[in-house]
Parts: sequence; structure tokens; C-alpha cells
Amino acid sequence: MIAKNKRVIVTGGYRGIGRAILKELAVRYCSSVLFTDISFGDSTPEQVALELEKELTPDGSIKVYAFKADASQLKDAQATIDYAIEKMGGVDILINNAGITRDNLLLRMPEEDFDKVINANLKSVFNYTKVAIKPMMSQRYGRIVNISSVVGVMGNAGQANYSASKAGILGFTKSTAKELASRNINVNAVAPGFIETAMTQQLNEKQREALLSNVPLKRMGTPEDIARVVSFLCGPDADYLTGQVIAVDGGMTM
Ligand code: NAP
Repeated sequence: MIAKNKRVIVTGGYRGIGRAILKELAVRYCSSVLFTDISFGDSTPEQVALELEKELTPDGSIKVYAFKADASQLKDAQATIDYAIEKMGGVDILINNAGITRDNLLLRMPEEDFDKVINANLKSVFNYTKVAIKPMMSQRYGRIVNISSVVGVMGNAGQANYSASKAGILGFTKSTAKELASRNINVNAVAPGFIETAMTQQLNEKQREALLSNVPLKRMGTPEDIARVVSFLCGPDADYLTGQVIAVDGGMTM
């Protein structure tokens, strides 16, 4: 029986893969979960948190917190950790999930779109890792999972900004895994393939067919496919695993 006493922060957890990860971790290991996002639709973070808490545990046994923060800003990351310490008493698991795309061929890509994607996808990982490792180092325990992408491994025409940000995450993951191992902080990355979320909804039928022709398992992944692997990486079965990149992509990158 695994103790359900962990406290997690998931960035960009309002929807998509982040939300699925949050739910999976809540059910498996956590007493309290906190997710951030840059926006919460028409609701307040408190309303969204309460709704999710009722859905996950009608008896309120898992506390859910939501915090509005732009992951590309270091000061927002610090404010998130301060809030996590106030509400949850600390942080054991960090999932760096927030991400955006601004696709275009390089010739047409505005400088602004390169900077935006690097800041939201890569600088955000620096921001949250930097502030989260302070409490993790003093408690000599931490699990960090960074959400990269297959295109960070393979590249993709029209995504020079996005694939650079996701490849950067892989180098960052391995370097921080080496720096933090002696403090019992494991850092790994998951590289999803094509997953059914808002991010991939703009693909037309022809683009989907072309993409699926490169997926041996012949289907797009679900957010839950990613969440289960992330959850494994955060649990005791992965205690001897750090600095790794796990591709969850239906076999695309084998
Ligand atoms: P999604 O449905 O668009 O969800 C991403 C969430 O992150 C959104 O709620 C978004 O808020 C939030 N976000 C964006 N920028 C942020 C910022 N600066 N600070 C805080 N939150 C921010 O995308 P997803 O498909 O779940 O993607 C989650 C992660 O998986 C991303 O890192 C993505 O690159 C990666 N990934 C996805 C796929 C895929 O096929 N879907 C494949 C490989 C990797 P807004 O909605 O307000 O922008």
C-alpha cells in the first residue's frame, strides 16, 4: 500500500495533459495537489479548484488548489511555491507541463513567436525547477517530470521554435538530474507523440492521416496515456530512475 501523502504542483494544469496528470497523481499518491494556469476561462481559480476537488474526492480527503500564474515569469513561479508552502506545507512532486505552439516555417516566423515559445516552454521549466528545488533539497526528496515532445527528439518542419524549446528541456533534464541526484531528487522527461488535446485540435483530416501513418500503434494518444507514465515516474517503482527521457508516442521514435 503506497502512502498518499505527497504534495504536487502541475503547471498548465487547467486542461489537457496537465489536468489528466493532476487527476492521476491525486488518486495514486497525493494528499494535496496544486495546479497553475495562465487563465481559467470564465471561472476563478478557487471555483475551478473546488469543482475538481468535489469530482475527485466528494469527502474532501484530497485538497485541490489552483493558482493563476504565467509559467514564463520567474516571479510567478516564486509566488506559486510560496502559495504551495502556505497551503500544502511544501512540495514533493513538480510537473513542468505548461506549453504553447506558434507554428510557422522559419522564413515566416516572427522573432516574437520564437521568444514566446521558448519562454513559455523552456524558461518556464527553469523558473519552476529553480524555486521548487529549495524546499525539495532541504527535505532530501523530490520528483520532477518535464513534459517535452517527440519533436524535441526528431524535429518537425514548421516547428523550429517549439522543437528547440522541447529539445532544450531534454538537456535541462539531464543536467539537473546530475546536479540533484545526491539530494534524492529525480528528474526525468516524458516525450509525448500526438495526443488528443486542444493543442492538436487544429489539425485537419489530411494532416491527421499523414501523422498517423508514422505511428506504429495507429492511433493518437490520450492525455491519460501520458498521465499513467508520469505517475509511474513519480512513484516508488521509479526510485532508481533519473535523467531519462521516456517517449510515449505509439512507437513513432523507435
Ligand atoms: P493544452 O491543452 O493547450 O494545455 C496546455 C495548458 O497550459 C493550457 O491550459 C494553457 O493555458 C497552459 N499554458 C500555456 N502557457 C502557459 C503559461 N505561460 N503559464 C501557465 N500556463 C500556460 O496542451 P496539451 O496538449 O495538454 O499540452 C501539455 C504539454 O504537453 C505541453 O507542454 C505540450 O507542449 C506537451 N505536448 C503535447 C502534445 C500533444 O500532442 N498534445 C505532444 C507533445 C507534447 P491557455 O489555454 O490559457 O493557453
